[in-house]
Amino acid sequence: MARIQTPNRVRGTQDIFGSEERRFARVLETFDRVRRLYCFQRVEIPMFEATEVFARSIGETTDVVSKEMYTFPDRGGDSLTLRPEFTAGIARAYLTEGWQQYAPLKLATSGAVFRYERPQKGRYRQFHQIDAEILGAPEPAADVELLTLADQLLRELGIADGVTLQLNTLGDAETRDAWRAALVAHFEAHRDALSEDSLKRLDKNPMRILDSKDPKDRPIADSAPDIDAYLTPEARAFFDAVTAGLDAAGVAWQRNARLVRGLDYYRHTAFEFVTDRLGAQGTVLAGGRYDGLVESLGGPATAGVGWAAGVERLAMLLEEPEAASKVVAVVSEDTGFDLTAVELVARLRRSGIAAEAFVSGSPKKRFDRALKTKPGATISLSRRDDAMNASLRNIALADQDVLAVRAALPSIVLA
Ligand code: ATP
Ligand code: MG
Repeated sequence: MARIQTPNRVRGTQDIFGSEERRFARVLETFDRVRRLYCFQRVEIPMFEATEVFARSIGETTDVVSKEMYTFPDRGGDSLTLRPEFTAGIARAYLTEGWQQYAPLKLATSGAVFRYERPQKGRYRQFHQIDAEILGAPEPAADVELLTLADQLLRELGIADGVTLQLNTLGDAETRDAWRAALVAHFEAHRDALSEDSLKRLDKNPMRILDSKDPKDRPIADSAPDIDAYLTPEARAFFDAVTAGLDAAGVAWQRNARLVRGLDYYRHTAFEFVTDRLGAQGTVLAGGRYDGLVESLGGPATAGVGWAAGVERLAMLLEEPEAASKVVAVVSEDTGFDLTAVELVARLRRSGIAAEAFVSGSPKKRFDRALKTKPGATISLSRRDDAMNASLRNIALADQDVLAVRAALPSIVLA
């Protein structure tokens, strides 16, 4: 019979296990705890949307829409796209579910997102994001709250020291128009030196040349005019209010006048939390204000601000010490007590204590097998003078956990 070939994992996807999974889970747990402190409600949205949801809001000429989306016709012939990010789907839900009535609305979500990119360390085709958004709040205080949430998250993950908040403003519509004209003039003057991708950007969205990763573009991007000279008084006041709020909240930031975001929908505040610890994949968390997004989906003018962070990139920065085990191993060293062991682990688990029974294989080897799992304590059941002797040993549990074990098993005399 022909040997069946094992299928490969699809390029750019991941199987996450062991310490990698524990770090991954810690990012998600910490995010869930911190977002509650800031009163952000959790939402779940679909993994796929009508393609136009992303195409219209993110912008047809962005890398995400032009090259990175997983788009396919479904069996009914509709064009669907696996979400490459959360913001557009949340904005779509805001409109289709009538969530305007709850504005201002603070939302958080997390899960898998999909982008057809060249896989490398910290860059996958299916990766995971945590995401926080505030819809319907035009005030700079909303930007400050989101950035403070991001800052606290990084602190609680223990990685704030190696990560810097870079902040910029992209101004309001009037500012952008004036700045855009200045950028076009600058880039036109250096047309010959620009990469092919940037020549295309020059026609459609010249600001994005500033974001180019092509070394050919960098000198021209770096010598482009800053937005500052073009800021309207309103746009300047907005940015000043954001930075004053950050200072008041104790959030450190750095101005990066070169920072623009890859997606079309940003206005005013744009930011990235960056580190030099992840090589080329140094942006761990990014976002900004997107007051035009909901309108691009056919909704009313709606303010919005938000960010997303790569769970894998955050997880790679964590230094997680092996957590002290709290598992109680119950070992029957005599087959006559196997059912007692089963009963004891059931009682421990019902009392909220993690427990594992060792009741299979050679009774002599069970204790060694239990120790290999590095339990927080073992309860061994052995025969002495024809009676059962239960002893609690190898205790690495805190005192209150030992008390909890004893309370869960009141009928057992633990030697
Ligand atoms: P990059 O410049 O690294 O491509 P981006 O600007 O495309 O990032 P965003 O769209 O802002 O990224 O997504 C928010 C966050 O999601 C990023 O800061 C990063 O942490 C993470 N991220 C983006 N693309 C990937 C990917 N392909 N694999 C893993 N994480 C990613
Ligand atoms: Mg990208």
